[in-house]
Amino acid sequence: MPHILLLGGTTEASALARLLAARGIPATLSFAGRTAHPKPQPIPTRSGGFGGVDGLADWLVAHHVTHLVDATHPFAARISANAVHAAARTATPLIALTRPPWTPAAGDDWRTVPDRDAAVAVLAGPPRRVMLALGRMHVDAFAAQPQHDYLLRFVDPPAQPPRLPRHHIVIDRGPFDAAGDRRLMDRHGIDLLVCKNAGGSGADAKLAAARARGCPVLLIDRPVLPIRPETHDPQAVLDWIDHGAHRGV
Ligand code: NAP
Repeated sequence: MPHILLLGGTTEASALARLLAARGIPATLSFAGRTAHPKPQPIPTRSGGFGGVDGLADWLVAHHVTHLVDATHPFAARISANAVHAAARTATPLIALTRPPWTPAAGDDWRTVPDRDAAVAVLAGPPRRVMLALGRMHVDAFAAQPQHDYLLRFVDPPAQPPRLPRHHIVIDRGPFDAAGDRRLMDRHGIDLLVCKNAGGSGADAKLAAARARGCPVLLIDRPVLPIRPETHDPQAVLDWIDHGAHRGV
């Protein structure tokens, strides 16, 4: 009897959860537990960290997991590395369900940096009007460049005000579209967009808006992860469960 552990917190994971439910394949969807009210799911869920590689390996064994699917966000580097190591240790077949990274189109003015700290360093220089499209946990690092006006957009109001001396917060959970993001950038006179290369279609409105506005983009590259089998297609995960999974990674 299969039992799939699906590491989630993304739209891709929720899409796969629907496919697993439709096929009646026993599965558990795991959340980190950061969202107070996650959307209802069609398969059983669990929430909270496992306790590193050891905890995840123990969970795989204790719950007789036959297949591990890592559908976490491309910037969730720790859980993805833990998944590779726990799968190897327990000989549990692993596949990653990911979204392709964004690539520049005609008219884009992108500069890529390897990580957030490199983005902070690039911002040394005269004051600019920067849209910082990053999660709450990452914006305080930009206090090292306090000369800029920062436009921040969060899903929920932050518990603590950001440590940026000059900032404006917009609370909005989307969905966003290019025309709306263009209006937002125009209203705030944005001359630089800083964001992560998350990929996918849900969050690319700001990139289209920057393109239309002729606004440069500072794109933070994805973290480097251990090599693992990977697909962008939820249906391919079902095929892998049916036919393709081999022991180990
Ligand atoms: P992370 O740095 O890779 O993970 C930190 C710790 O959180 C992990 O070591 C693990 O704790 C726990 N964890 C993460 N994902 C988990 C999951 N699906 N189920 C159970 N435990 C999980 O990840 P993060 O960047 O903080 O992201 C947390 C979650 O939010 C991820 O599930 C991710 O898919 C989602 N998310 C992240 C982003 C982003 O930009 N990073 C954006 C959208 C959604 P233990 O070591 O104790 O097991």
